[in-house]
Amino acid sequence: MAEQSWIVWPFVFLLGASIGSFLNVVIYRWPRGESLVFPPSHCLSCGARLTWADLIPVFSYLLLRGRCRHCGKSFSIRYMLVEAATGLLAVASVYLFGWTAYAAGVFIAASALLVIFFVDLDHMIIPDQATVTLILVGLAFDGYRLVHLGSKEAIVFAERVGTHSYAVYLPRSLVGLAMAGGLFLLIAWVSRAIFHKPAMGMGDVKLAAAMGALLGPGYLFLSYFILSVLLGAGIAVVLIMLRLKRRGDYVPFGPMMAVAGVIMLLGGEWIAPWILGWYTP
Ligand SMILES: [Zn+2]
Repeated sequence: MAEQSWIVWPFVFLLGASIGSFLNVVIYRWPRGESLVFPPSHCLSCGARLTWADLIPVFSYLLLRGRCRHCGKSFSIRYMLVEAATGLLAVASVYLFGWTAYAAGVFIAASALLVIFFVDLDHMIIPDQATVTLILVGLAFDGYRLVHLGSKEAIVFAERVGTHSYAVYLPRSLVGLAMAGGLFLLIAWVSRAIFHKPAMGMGDVKLAAAMGALLGPGYLFLSYFILSVLLGAGIAVVLIMLRLKRRGDYVPFGPMMAVAGVIMLLGGEWIAPWILGWYTP
């Protein structure tokens, strides 16, 4: 990537954080079935409308020490954390992938995963709109690869019909979607048959299918799957040790799948070989 002045990064961060400000609205209002644009942002306690001075991401929160300037009611620090996280995702996307359409796709997908993380944590549902966004980005990545790398990036099946040989080209995103969705559907079905209670919801299955569309059916998805399970098991053990959950309690898997998804989108090229190195001499 070409050298560029450090001065761009604060702007990229602020742009990302402004989008994070909108993601906060999505995370709060979408599960409640409220409009994303109306009414405009307001204090949930006194109803005072927030002006531009309250809406500078991250900084307004720090300046007002997280309080409403009208009634003094404190806002959850989570709003600022979501803004800061989105700002950092924007910086990471541009830093790693340059000023490319690919970087934009990574940022959009990571933002959708951020929404999934919090909505699933709060309401134990994964919005279909977010999952569909991930699938659309996966399809767009296929288009991007087709333009920049040609058909050699597709999945190729050699087929022989009678005396004729054919090469069948399939888009990575759709093969990944079918494989990942099928795998998780199987896991959900088997675990329900064994434990007689649903260990995994349909939202998780759809999220896995969408990650398959993003990462393709190969090693990137396999590493993603291993990372999700390790994160999920690790977090569950920590929660049980801290006595926040008991053995047998339900710990939502979706948020861990979302974290693993962001990690793989940003660092998959380094992480997949590392994880797979555990199995190969
Ligand atoms: Zn207020």
